[in-house]
Amino acid sequence: MAQSFRMKPPMGEDNGWWWQEAAEGRLAIQRCKQCQTLRHPPHPACGECHSFDWDHITASGRGTLCSFTILHHPQFPGFDYPLIIILVDLAEGTRFTSQLINCAPADVSFGMPVQMVMHEDPDGFRLPMFQPATGAAA
Ligand SMILES: [Zn+2]
Repeated sequence: MAQSFRMKPPMGEDNGWWWQEAAEGRLAIQRCKQCQTLRHPPHPACGECHSFDWDHITASGRGTLCSFTILHHPQFPGFDYPLIIILVDLAEGTRFTSQLINCAPADVSFGMPVQMVMHEDPDGFRLPMFQPATGAAA
């Protein structure tokens, strides 16, 4: 039986670097070099000062669950349903859309602390996901 894989996101000039960071295990956040504003998803210009100069920081991976939705349909190959799709307020201050894993749908709650785990597909493709934060609260 053929193994089906997750569809790959489009990777272009503006966001290819971000996926390269993920491939190396890091959750990157783009930062304006002029005014230091963080932004995600990556795009060429700063929304605050319109500068095209940017670099990036590596996020701690800590965050708080801002919102979520549980997806049952439509089901695409390469995903395990139901999917818990979440909006995370990263500790650094930007928001990030991701998937919550290692958590039953009934246990999801607004404001829960979450931490990033780098998910790796069987074909080696890596993408940041989140799970309930473990250990003592900081
Ligand atoms: Zn700026």
